Amino acid sequence: VELQEESSVDPKRVKAIQHVMDVVPPLTPELVGLGRWMSGMYLCHEVTALQAMLPGALKAKYERGIQIGDHAGEQARTALPDVLDILEFVRLKGTVGMEALMERFPNEGLLVKQLIESGALSEVQIVKDRMNTKKALTIFPPEQIGVLEDAVQELSVRAVKQKEVLRFLMDHPVPIRLAELMDKLQVGAGTVKSLSDKGWFELREVEVGRDPYAGRTFLRTKPLPLTDEQDHVFQEIQSAVAAHRHEVFLLQGVTGSGKTEVYLQSIQECLDQGREAIVLVPEISLTPQMVERFKGRFGDLVAVLHSRLSNGERYDEWRKITRRQVKVVIGARSAIFAPFTRIGLIIIDEEHESSYKQEESPKYHAREIAVQRALQHQAVVVLGSATPSLESIQRTRSYRGGKPSYRLLLMQQRVAGRPMPKVHIVDMREELKGGNRSMFSRPLYKAIEERLHKKEQTVLLLNRRGYATFVMCRTCGFVSTCPHCDISLTYHQSSRMLRCHYCGYAEREVSQCPSCSSEHIRHFGTGTQRVEEELGKLFPGIRVIRMDVDTTTEKGSHEKWLTMFREKQADVLLGTQMVAKGLDFPDVTLVGVIAADTVLNLPDFRSAERTFQLLTQVAGRAGRHEKLGEVFVQTYTPEHYSVQCASRHDFGGFANHELDIRATLGYPPFQRLILITFSHEELPLLVKSAEAFVTRLKELAADQLRSENDLFSAVEQTPEPAHMEVLGPVASPISRIKDRYRFQCVVKYRGNVQASQLIGSAVSWFEERSSKEKLQISVDVDPQYL
Ligand code: ADP
Ligand code: ZN
Ligand code: ZN
Repeated sequence: VELQEESSVDPKRVKAIQHVMDVVPPLTPELVGLGRWMSGMYLCHEVTALQAMLPGALKAKYERGIQIGDHAGEQARTALPDVLDILEFVRLKGTVGMEALMERFPNEGLLVKQLIESGALSEVQIVKDRMNTKKALTIFPPEQIGVLEDAVQELSVRAVKQKEVLRFLMDHPVPIRLAELMDKLQVGAGTVKSLSDKGWFELREVEVGRDPYAGRTFLRTKPLPLTDEQDHVFQEIQSAVAAHRHEVFLLQGVTGSGKTEVYLQSIQECLDQGREAIVLVPEISLTPQMVERFKGRFGDLVAVLHSRLSNGERYDEWRKITRRQVKVVIGARSAIFAPFTRIGLIIIDEEHESSYKQEESPKYHAREIAVQRALQHQAVVVLGSATPSLESIQRTRSYRGGKPSYRLLLMQQRVAGRPMPKVHIVDMREELKGGNRSMFSRPLYKAIEERLHKKEQTVLLLNRRGYATFVMCRTCGFVSTCPHCDISLTYHQSSRMLRCHYCGYAEREVSQCPSCSSEHIRHFGTGTQRVEEELGKLFPGIRVIRMDVDTTTEKGSHEKWLTMFREKQADVLLGTQMVAKGLDFPDVTLVGVIAADTVLNLPDFRSAERTFQLLTQVAGRAGRHEKLGEVFVQTYTPEHYSVQCASRHDFGGFANHELDIRATLGYPPFQRLILITFSHEELPLLVKSAEAFVTRLKELAADQLRSENDLFSAVEQTPEPAHMEVLGPVASPISRIKDRYRFQCVVKYRGNVQASQLIGSAVSWFEERSSKEKLQISVDVDPQYL
């Protein structure tokens, strides 16, 4: 990341550079700087941050390598021909990978081992070649077609196939892949090679891009005339883009209000300025449909990055960026690190999505990275959502230097005056009183029946989180749990196995309770599989597509199901959160939420917010086209404000209510949180260490706060005094994972507190005094889940 004239390291310990892998560094200076910022902000190693920015293909892999050893000369004097061959080969290569050496001398494993032992060869660690580009033999016809005509004359009458090849090239004088030509003309490689050997055309290897969307044509689209609301929003964004003014907009637009069209036209403006754009969408809404809308508008100027690409495909898309072949990147979270150098616009769609936060180190939030990068580029950020996060809403209301941190833009109408779908709340307690024990209420049952009749489609949502199937004994209450983690095992019907979602531990389904030997032990809970079974019983012949983690692991399966549904090969699309986002089907007129309370009952301060978001998003799937839409929400807590507000499409009402509660309880966005988790195999040692850590952190905080608040009162500019408190340590909600016990503490702070820095010092202090105790400390800044 940096060159220095002199090193502070002892010269004896400095190693020589073996090989420079990239003449041009893959990361721009701006990204290297960003890595430094991330390391301070999220308390991770700088290299961890930099690695998060690189495609997997570029990460170095090490292997055993062989070099000439100090005693090679002695061996060479006495040696056998085989030894001389090996030494000569290694000498010529300089350094050779062990694998490559054994490929060359397949029967000499023992000899190589002896040469290493005698010091004639020495072992080193070398960097394995990184992902190579993909190459293919390609035919290049000569510039003068006459050459080919002459060639045809020269060939004997019987060389029918050869002539066919030459004639094809005369008709199509452009480069063509050998494999493609062989396929087209049904000729062998030998036929083509013999022609190129005669010099009639050139045959050489050229690099080919691995394009995940190769062979698909995207119909080009033209900008739509904007509605008044869209135009107002677009004018605001485009004037900031045109002025190269760093600004963050929060675009709150109801589902179906046409946010994507605004994104597209704003990007066009950005490209017209000669600048580049990054678009982030949640991983699960990166469907072909979404990609089509961007490729349809900007064609080959678009690169796509997401985790379902192969390593090679991702590498090739990434290189389109570094080679300046593309101007727009659309991708999931990590696409925020696209190595553009002239960013004009960054768009984050569905900005409230928790998947923008990375759960492993570096635990960054793409929204924060976007703002940080935009600052460096004097670029504009647009955060779009029908249900913005309360953090973002609060920033449109909090002022800094007389201006709100984010500017709020509103779109409250659906395009073409389409009404919002009607939402019915179904009280499941009443259903139970009325004697209905099915997971389908009568109103939802009737609505599905009606859709089957009219040949319209239905989307059913069952939120999996907190609702997985577990195994319980009805006699004694025994629940099967993981022996290594503090969590109940999940039942998988297809394999009839019980599995731990944390460590992968698996066991067979039991037919007798291990605790009381009762046979009344069975799986409980409503998984998507059970809903599917029940649908089949209630509506014989119903065609259901089920989308959940089990049915979408295969590459491309996600897309396959959606295409089938779009082509009306099914009546119902049943799934987890996956079905709630970004999908747009003309014939969906009914959306059913099987159990709204599953999210609500999670012990998390964001549970009401998540419930509201999920209900609003899934309701937005209905009636997006000409046909009217209807939504049924089944719940045991119909009076809850998140359910009520979602049913009225009332974001403002929800936000105000929820913000009041957060302010009272001192939760984000009014205070920020940092979660620190400690883990160790021995419980007493863990508790002792965690307590020592917390004590130290509190001391450090007290020192800093005293001086911060002195400073503030001296200059009289603080709206709220700096404040920080450390809660805990307490046992984590999942108190053991993979045999390691877990404790956590939560830091709450507001105002000008350098919380990350303080925690960083506490961690260093701790590591200095107890490096051998193997205590792991992990820090999560602005955690999504507590
Ligand atoms: P959102 O992202 O806000 O949910 P979309 O961008 O998906 O909304 O737009 C909803 C539908 O309206 C899409 O089918 C889109 O093609 C259409 N649409 C958007 N803007 C216009 C417009 N200005 N005129 C006509 N149709 C539009
Ligand atoms: Zn039992
Ligand atoms: Zn486990």
